Amino acid sequence: TRGALLGPAEIRDLAGRLGVRPTKTLGQNFVHDGGTVRKIVRTSGVTAGERVVEIGPGLGSLTLGLLEVGARVVAVEIDPVLARQLPTTVAAHVPDLGDRLEVVGADALDVVELPGPPPTALVANLPYNVAVPVLLTFLERFDSLQRVLVMVQSEVADRLAAGPGSRTYGVPSVKAAWYASARRAGTVGRAVFWPVPNVDSALVALDRREPPVTTASREEVFTVIDAAFAQRRKMLRSALAGITGSSAAATVVLEAAGVDPQARGETLDVQDFARIAESLAMVGA
Ligand code: SAM
Repeated sequence: TRGALLGPAEIRDLAGRLGVRPTKTLGQNFVHDGGTVRKIVRTSGVTAGERVVEIGPGLGSLTLGLLEVGARVVAVEIDPVLARQLPTTVAAHVPDLGDRLEVVGADALDVVELPGPPPTALVANLPYNVAVPVLLTFLERFDSLQRVLVMVQSEVADRLAAGPGSRTYGVPSVKAAWYASARRAGTVGRAVFWPVPNVDSALVALDRREPPVTTASREEVFTVIDAAFAQRRKMLRSALAGITGSSAAATVVLEAAGVDPQARGETLDVQDFARIAESLAMVGA
């Protein structure tokens, strides 16, 4: 009889039968360790009956863990071979599956609508090269998502969870903070994957919160964030000169926002960036 989750032998066997040769471009590293899967599911806090979206189900390791606790899963997978196989793998492991799994064969970045009632949680072992854009896109597009638990490259986890002044604080930190509060929720060694990646992984938990109160749009604030960090070493008045036309004009904008023009982007929080965007709109830049 089969276990509830996928182990190393079954992962290799499935991949072999499907002719799957994991690619780096798609970040295909499959988890073959039940302990890791259960840790992700436990940390996510997903409960029976909850609607969860999973990005990149791959061979189904995490999907099975989510279904094991009774969740309803919408899985978005870009690889057509994996997307087509998933229902069969899952049906063989989950006797009480019913209609708890839907598979969307698509690039997650292109998905603007999900089938069924809105999901409240996103749980995924994200493909590494698109982890941040996928995460931010889903938080933006699906405001029903209250909680997120993702496994990402360890350095990316640090960036997502960093606060102002920290060495790893940057664009992903501030943009994630627009939507949610983020924290690191554990480290995962590379041995739990097949094939073994050359980086360590970590879990990041995000809890949705209200975005900053501001008259500026999200796009306007994100433009300021991008500009501030594109020139990381530069003072804000120089970094924003590209938007305002000159560093003198940027100084006016920053002073109106109550931000020191000589500060660097890495010392500001998302609320500060929102105030700068507001002040920019006021001077018509
Ligand atoms: N969840 C599985 C696991 O834990 O074993 C697989 C995780 S693997 C790190 C990432 C998965 O994301 C792969 O199955 C890959 O094909 C898929 N993927 C890569 N880019 C994607 C994208 N843009 N949209 C949807 N899925 C993607």
